[in-house]
Amino acid sequence: MNEALKEAYKAYKNNEIPVGAVIVHDKKIIARARNNRQNKNNVLGHAEVNAILKAEKKLKDWRLNECEMYVTLEPCEMCKIIIEESRLKSVYYLLEKPLKSSKTNCVDYIKANIRSESASDYKKMVQEFFQNLRN
Ligand SMILES: [Zn+2]
Repeated sequence: MNEALKEAYKAYKNNEIPVGAVIVHDKKIIARARNNRQNKNNVLGHAEVNAILKAEKKLKDWRLNECEMYVTLEPCEMCKIIIEESRLKSVYYLLEKPLKSSKTNCVDYIKANIRSESASDYKKMVQEFFQNLRN
């Protein structure tokens, strides 16, 4: 966690939200990262996401089920989803989120009701894909 804290301080010095994360595999740190959303103009630039991308590259595998993450702040909802997708074994966080997200109702999710050949072709393709996956 100390290594994650070092990253958090670096983020703070760069006028970022101070969050740092490291990923450990076989008791070794394979990725260190910090929040860099402002400096990279990247909405995905959270410490956790940056650390996951580095770890995937290092292991040449997107499945991180043998890895643990240490992060200085409780992950946001976006990061939690990405963490789950990456199948990390466990995540240790230091502090709970000071603010509960107020963003949850900013975007309306609306199922688009489009009837066209390409839409129905797409639907068939997706169904077949998941059908094959099950068989
Ligand atoms: Zn996040």
